[in-house]
Amino acid sequence: MKRNCTISQLLLRSILIMMLVITVVIVMITGQKGALPEANASDISTASSSGSLSASASSHSVNRAAAPVSLDAVGTGVPTFERSIAKTSVAKKSSNEKIVYLTFDDGPSKLTDQVLDILKKENAAATFFVLGEHAKHSPEVIYRIVDAGHAIGNHSFDHKYDDLYSSFTHFWGQIKATEEVLKEIIGVRPELVRAPGGTYGHFDETYFNLLEQGGYKVFDWDVDSGDSKRRGVPASEIVKNVTSTKLKNEMIVLMHDGTGHAETVKALPEIIKFYKKHGYTFRALSTEQSPVQFHISPSVKNKGRNSPSLAWVQKNVVPNADLFGPGQSLVLEAAGVETRLDPGEYSLRNGQYQVPIRTVMERLGAQVKWDQSNRTAVIVWGDVRIIIDTKRETITGEQGESSARKGPVAINHDKSSLWIPLRTLLESSGQTIVSVAASQKERRVKAQ
Ligand SMILES: [Zn+2]
Repeated sequence: MKRNCTISQLLLRSILIMMLVITVVIVMITGQKGALPEANASDISTASSSGSLSASASSHSVNRAAAPVSLDAVGTGVPTFERSIAKTSVAKKSSNEKIVYLTFDDGPSKLTDQVLDILKKENAAATFFVLGEHAKHSPEVIYRIVDAGHAIGNHSFDHKYDDLYSSFTHFWGQIKATEEVLKEIIGVRPELVRAPGGTYGHFDETYFNLLEQGGYKVFDWDVDSGDSKRRGVPASEIVKNVTSTKLKNEMIVLMHDGTGHAETVKALPEIIKFYKKHGYTFRALSTEQSPVQFHISPSVKNKGRNSPSLAWVQKNVVPNADLFGPGQSLVLEAAGVETRLDPGEYSLRNGQYQVPIRTVMERLGAQVKWDQSNRTAVIVWGDVRIIIDTKRETITGEQGESSARKGPVAINHDKSSLWIPLRTLLESSGQTIVSVAASQKERRVKAQ
């Protein structure tokens, strides 16, 4: 039957078309406002479905730009949003250098060796966010990761959300447990942390702030390979997810090397080939770069978590950053002479400053001699003589006619230098520490 349009039908139709055009224009405008300049079409849905995000306040200086839609590691379908923190950003690379950071979570597993083989063959560096319980059972894989020059990050102990996101103290407990396992294996405490499932919907301000205060760097990602969206995501889909993400100069790619991720291993050569083709360099994440972190989800407010007490923070978080080696200089003032020890030139062990004898004493104007036959260091500092007997582990201080001060000393040998506690060294010379202070910039010890 032929359709005969009445005037009223035509009118109705044109009104409908006009409404449709207006809707499309509105969607385009709102989409553009919320999305990054390089956003692709899928960002529009992100921006419009998450308008409430802008209401969540943050004390971090965060750029609240929407990142490309991606699923978190468990595939709950929650869109993730990038927090890029300006205050910690370090521009180390040349402006046009393109860098990709491949990251592998949830290992080590039987698949990790295969991932390492591929990375070796392709001469590509990567980062492994490992679980403490798995690291404990495969220390040899952890060795292999580190030996090959890749970075190790902390991904909690058991990955169980109920525990990790019930309160910060639980999350902290798991980070510390994994850290101890890794310290035991490789002698280093990793500062890089990745939250299981990503931070979005899991972290609140407390999590972000206290981890930062404790000396950790939290990294989410820019590119989700989608390999944990569901069980057995085929390699072709993983490759497609990665290669269809809009390129930018620095990208962190999320993948998994945990049990059940054989398809990721299969996809990896293709992913590496893709980034090589586009001129990217492969690097391991480091503490010096600005972290990529997602926005705080408004939903975390409903978790009803208790914040840790001030006393708990003082006891656990505040001293923690010192574990990662001194980041500040130590200014030492003794007998009216001031000298500065850069980070690495001193250490803080069990609450005590440890210093290399020769470096410190020569800078304070003393002469240091090593008596090889007696394995003794002899320091002459004005009218003071200090003798450190490394065989007997004793230190003796003599000054003019006064009687000698002799006592035990804990000596640490580091390569070619002898390290002892600063307090013992100063006291043996007749100096007394009168003040110890620390600021953000430096530490200061005054003796007289
Ligand atoms: Zn994970």
